[in-house]
Amino acid sequence: MDATFAGTGAAPAPLLQGLWEYVRAGQEEILLSPYLPASCALLMHVLLCAPFLALDALGSVCQRVRSWRITAGSDPPPTPRQWLDCFCRILCRYVTVVLPASALFQRLRSPRLPELAPSCWQLFVEVLACVLLFDAFFFVWHYYIHRIPWLYRSIHKAHHQHRNPFALAAQDASSAELLSLLLLSLSCAWLLGCHPLSEVIFHLLNSWLAVEDHCGYNLPLASHRLFPFLGGAPHHQTHHKIKCFNYAPYFTHWDHLFGTYRPPVLDPRESRECRAQ
Ligand SMILES: [Zn+2]
Ligand SMILES: [Zn+2]
Repeated sequence: MDATFAGTGAAPAPLLQGLWEYVRAGQEEILLSPYLPASCALLMHVLLCAPFLALDALGSVCQRVRSWRITAGSDPPPTPRQWLDCFCRILCRYVTVVLPASALFQRLRSPRLPELAPSCWQLFVEVLACVLLFDAFFFVWHYYIHRIPWLYRSIHKAHHQHRNPFALAAQDASSAELLSLLLLSLSCAWLLGCHPLSEVIFHLLNSWLAVEDHCGYNLPLASHRLFPFLGGAPHHQTHHKIKCFNYAPYFTHWDHLFGTYRPPVLDPRESRECRAQ
């Protein structure tokens, strides 16, 4: 779809127009490839996890880094072997299921590349709307895959093998769950008619927030400290421990509204299952 959501009619920002023309120049075939979204999702996920791999390595020699870990003093950081095993599982699921299935979706969607870049305001509104919509869709989907036992067992249980998740584990889920999340994020941009540039920024932000949610660190400059309406790693790590709460991935308003909000639980001994699971 073309950029129609914001519909502001504002002229594109010169900086964004220059960037958009640079990105488009001779790259149409690559940008429109149905394999691009899943390939970029996997590549970006691995790149965004790299700083946390470095933090995990530093933690063995630096007390300050260890003190930022949410489970500081009770649980060691993941080993390189855990990172490698996790990466192999994710790669296997992407190659066998997520890549071909999302390519089919992209063919049906048949995106186009407009000539004009969005205005700054349009970009901001579209990215924010996509994140809010994804957060709402994910909340509902996540709630039901916990509440319906066969859905939990067949789709979501694999992700919950991590009681104390680490960055890469954000994508350590069953093929069905990985595919559902990718299709959800692609659908948000599609439904809102976002400009492709807004869509790229949204996917980048989405990947970063998912990595932060699972990173296992409560860092001094983490997004949830800068923007208190975000839950961040403490919020999502609580969900990995006490599964009946904190279903929304990023914001906390849906959990507050539906009574499923639980303040961060930092005691590693506290952990339980939902009654339906
Ligand atoms: Zn998770
Ligand atoms: Zn869950």
